[in-house]
Amino acid sequence: MSFAAQTKKELTMIENGTCCALAELSAMIRMSGTLQLSKQQVMMDISTENAAIARRIYSYIKQLFQIQAELVVRRKTRLKKNNVYMVRLPENVEHVLRQLTIVKEGFQFSDHIDKGLIKKLCCRKAYLRGAFLAGGSVNNPVGASYHLEISSMYEEHSRSLCDLMNKYDLNARVIERKKGFVIYIKEGEKIIDFLNLIGAHHALFRFEDVLIMKDMRNSVNRIVNCETANLNKTIGAALRQAENIRLLDEQIGIDNLPLKLREVARLRLLHPDSNLKEIGDMLDDGTSKSGVNHRLRKLDEMAEQLRGNGAIK
Ligand SMILES: [Zn+2]
Repeated sequence: MSFAAQTKKELTMIENGTCCALAELSAMIRMSGTLQLSKQQVMMDISTENAAIARRIYSYIKQLFQIQAELVVRRKTRLKKNNVYMVRLPENVEHVLRQLTIVKEGFQFSDHIDKGLIKKLCCRKAYLRGAFLAGGSVNNPVGASYHLEISSMYEEHSRSLCDLMNKYDLNARVIERKKGFVIYIKEGEKIIDFLNLIGAHHALFRFEDVLIMKDMRNSVNRIVNCETANLNKTIGAALRQAENIRLLDEQIGIDNLPLKLREVARLRLLHPDSNLKEIGDMLDDGTSKSGVNHRLRKLDEMAEQLRGNGAIK
């Protein structure tokens, strides 16, 4: 089961009071309901690919309006990968839609989320939960990018949903897609806040775990990268020194170098992996790290002079 499906499964197990059931159902129907006219009667179908969500819609309609809806299942076909579950309301559609504040008098659709419907904090959360159940999706945090989205056909509704989300500082945005509008959140921390808001606590703990793991891995990588960089610098310097010494040997001959430089030059060529301290320890006079560094630099300078681009000292 995908991370999104697991999150939805968790959400369908949350119990709502009457006020919140109304808010959650309003969001789900606004986003997933379609109307049809049949024999002068308005019918409504609310479709979802999730059986638990269909059951929830069905039982809320029964509980809130004492209406027995019908449940229809469309089996998966070659074109459709998943079953589609439909809750069908053959009558009383206007009454239900008015109670849910989706239409006003005379079957006038209202574009915005009704203020009265989401007056209480519990109901605002329930509305967002309903919207996520109906049109939401969230990427598994293990993947490369964090992404949570809610898609809706209607621009005005998408914008008021986005505004509602941003009351909780979620940094949500709306974009237009081919099929309607998408409200999305891209930051891991904000996705966690949203999951918390709608009551998906298991999902948010899983999300948080992944975030912490990734953070740890990043800091380990940073340390490793830093050490590798230092190592590369040392190796780079050793290679350059050896090359310079070989040049001096070809043109002047190592034996013709001053004694102190000669010893260091020989050791550098013999031990390309050794660091300055190790070379110092190998010298007869046990020269310090900085002493060895000084002599190697002198050799570098002489080589540069031979190449004709160093200052003569
Ligand atoms: Zn409530």
